[in-house]
Amino acid sequence: MTAPRDAAPLTVFDRFERSLRDLRISVTDRCNFRCPYCMPREAFGPDFQFLPREEILSFEEITRIARVFASLGVRKLRLTGGEPLLRNDLPKLVEMLASIDGIDLALTTNASLLASQARALARAGLKRVTVSLDSLDDEVFRAMNDVDVPVARVLEGIAAAERAGLAPVKINAVVRRGVNDHTLVDLARHFKGSGHIVRFIEFMDVGTTNGWRLDEVVAASALIERIDAELPLVPLDPNYDGEVARRWAYADGEGEIGLITSVTEPFCATCTRARISADGRLYTCLFAVEGVELRDRMRAGASDDELAATMRAVWEQREDRYSELRSEATSDLPRVEMSYIGG
Ligand code: SAM
Ligand code: SF4
Ligand code: SF4
Repeated sequence: MTAPRDAAPLTVFDRFERSLRDLRISVTDRCNFRCPYCMPREAFGPDFQFLPREEILSFEEITRIARVFASLGVRKLRLTGGEPLLRNDLPKLVEMLASIDGIDLALTTNASLLASQARALARAGLKRVTVSLDSLDDEVFRAMNDVDVPVARVLEGIAAAERAGLAPVKINAVVRRGVNDHTLVDLARHFKGSGHIVRFIEFMDVGTTNGWRLDEVVAASALIERIDAELPLVPLDPNYDGEVARRWAYADGEGEIGLITSVTEPFCATCTRARISADGRLYTCLFAVEGVELRDRMRAGASDDELAATMRAVWEQREDRYSELRSEATSDLPRVEMSYIGG
């Protein structure tokens, strides 16, 4: 017997037959770190104009956007930024989003403020966190956050997440040749057997201020060779279609790692992600130039059906595949910053 038609999950496809399944929402464009690959302090200094409060989406507006996206087939929701834990009262937002049916809710954070917030976030209904941690070498890490936050603070955040039941934690490390790549086998070794999953991310040309150069990218395949030489690995199948990270298991059964190969092996063909900036613009690619404004439509009284129609029309027009076209020349093209669009 076939299911009644209205019981089938709705799917909206773009021009390359990619469905709309994931939504990343930036809850603030501010951050307490100045990672040079994302918010270099020369560009994000004391005079930088962050969005004024009234331009930022309210919790009600974020929840409404998320609910309408869920009605169009979105199943995964990620809160990001900037640094999401800087947003006041974040557990309240988590509680509101956790009440949406059928949504898998997680948060990406630099974890500098996680130790004091993990329990409240978990109580509010958060299921998992991804923590960015680029090195366990304190000197390297302080240089990579450029605000002198020690590794110990992030490790306390991870421990608090674990105690609060937000586990397994995914740990994201951006790899930069000559900056932290010599410390990454140690990072893998530290979390091996812990249940947490380290994911190594190829350095990307997001935004226009991070001075990206192709020769600073360490190919994931080269990194795998280095890790495998000390901690033998075997390839794993993806958990699901469109999974961003390539998975490798430790041959001794002590867990797995992931590689996000955005530069050397782009995965645009299976990219099902939309993004909402902190001021309510909809972007269909991390490397987009323009977003479609949703906040003012809501504030002018648009109905849920009208919002859904806009979102659907934007997705149906989508043809983004930036990473498949990337070159040093394309990295000079205009685009929005990652801290604004939500990493
Ligand atoms: N502040 C939070 C954090 O760092 O986890 C959330 C926002 S941050 C923009 C999201 C993710 O983007 C982080 O894991 C960060 O490492 C990654 N990221 C930022 N700039 C990047 C770049 N140039 N290349 C690759 N990943 C980058
Ligand atoms: Fe902040 Fe995250 Fe960007 Fe680092 S990667 S500057 S922590 S938003
Ligand atoms: Fe998706 Fe754009 Fe990244 Fe390709 S470049 S994977 S389309 S966000």
